[in-house]
Amino acid sequence: MFRLYDTRLRAVTEIQPARRGQLRMYTCGPTVYRPAHVGNLRAYLLPDLIRRNAERHGLSVVACQNITDVGHLADDDESDPQGEDKVLAAAAATGTSARQIALRYEDEFRASCDELNLLPPDFAPRASESIETMIDMVRRLIDSGHAYPVPTGSVYFDVRTFADYGAISGNRLEALRPRSERTPHQSDGGVDADKRFHADWALWKAAPADRELTWPTPWGTGFPGWHIECSALSLTSLGDVIDIHTGGIDLRFPHHEDERAQSDSLAGREVVRHWVHCEHLLFEGRKMAKSTGNVVLLADLAERGLDPLAARLAFLEHRYRQQLNLTWDTLTAADATLRRWRERVADWADEPSRPMCAEYWARVAGALDDDLDTPAALRALRELAADEQIPAGSKFETFAAADRILGLDLVRLVGRPRPAPPPLPEGAEAKLAERAAAREHQDFGASDRLRTELAALGVSVVDTPEGQAWTVSPATP
Ligand code: AMP
Ligand code: ZN
Repeated sequence: MFRLYDTRLRAVTEIQPARRGQLRMYTCGPTVYRPAHVGNLRAYLLPDLIRRNAERHGLSVVACQNITDVGHLADDDESDPQGEDKVLAAAAATGTSARQIALRYEDEFRASCDELNLLPPDFAPRASESIETMIDMVRRLIDSGHAYPVPTGSVYFDVRTFADYGAISGNRLEALRPRSERTPHQSDGGVDADKRFHADWALWKAAPADRELTWPTPWGTGFPGWHIECSALSLTSLGDVIDIHTGGIDLRFPHHEDERAQSDSLAGREVVRHWVHCEHLLFEGRKMAKSTGNVVLLADLAERGLDPLAARLAFLEHRYRQQLNLTWDTLTAADATLRRWRERVADWADEPSRPMCAEYWARVAGALDDDLDTPAALRALRELAADEQIPAGSKFETFAAADRILGLDLVRLVGRPRPAPPPLPEGAEAKLAERAAAREHQDFGASDRLRTELAALGVSVVDTPEGQAWTVSPATP
């Protein structure tokens, strides 16, 4: 079968689904209060690759990815002292309703996923539509002694009833300091005082009934905590044996620890067999995040004339659990590689058909099975493209097969006219030729000078394994 790095077991592990022939996978979906940036989207490429590779092995995949449209507080990532709901805050800032905000960004999220060729999950439940299930689960956790209501109307999970807490992230309960010590500026609005233990978290949060997105319960009016959403939506959509659970690396703690404690306490068993996490995307050296101010959207790529799938290829150049530092240069280079490969694939398709090249295919498939080693798979494809011993028809079949998992639309130009290259400003073509010649003669001084001169003309040049590539800035007349 195939192997993935299991965060809880801290090892690359053979994935054997619990049910014969079927893989059940849950992914923490987006919080729909702003557009998803390419860092978020990298986290969703992971389940897409797992799915495509599992299907290659003949498994039928049942995937669930929730939509968080309520309950994700800004202070769950410890940045907002008020603990404001992210969707409600966005609604207040724009003078619309929470529902409108959520629907708008849910729709934009789906569009971004489509642009990146991310296959849609089988279930995409909205948190706000499963509140009754969450309330029922909170009640069951209280009845079984894992949770307790407090006079304010909130309900807390009693973490000391879950002995194995911390196994995913390596955080030991006794070593966890109270949050107020970790972030002295922060207050939990006075609710903290009712907690039995500082690491307990709210399953249900009391709130005034006139606040949007609140529901009545036996304990009081309020809204669910973010962590119970994922327990409720995963258990109801996939049952209590889930083969793989994915998410961004920052979700290991507290989100996944808390979700695991809740789900396992409800089910009376280990629900998730493998936790798999995607490392962060950095942009020009810093973690991509709204708070860092270095957010890049797929629309920003389009604005620079880059194919959105250039982001997908740039992601694939690194393994999912390596940090990846994206720059406009790497995106431009990926865009050029995509164009070049699509043209070559179309050329090869014109030649007599031949079977796939078994040796290169084994390398591609083996790399994917080895903890999604996509850089190794791409290296094999680059070598295949350059291998003069392999007939064009075989190259075509092998690239087409690899693309069913890589999802780069490499067969886009087969049987179709080639798109015209973007028109170059006056004088740029000669400089590009001069620069290519300079690089051939390893005259890097001249090559750098020409790069600067081309930039002044609005042409940005990058060097890729396939040679120099360029984009023409749309501002150029
Ligand atoms: P959110 O919509 O904020 O709940 O985040 C959605 C997903 O994106 C989560 O799985 C996060 O872990 C992930 N994520 C957030 N920022 C980054 C980043 N810079 N690189 C990779 N994943 C990220
Ligand atoms: Zn989740």
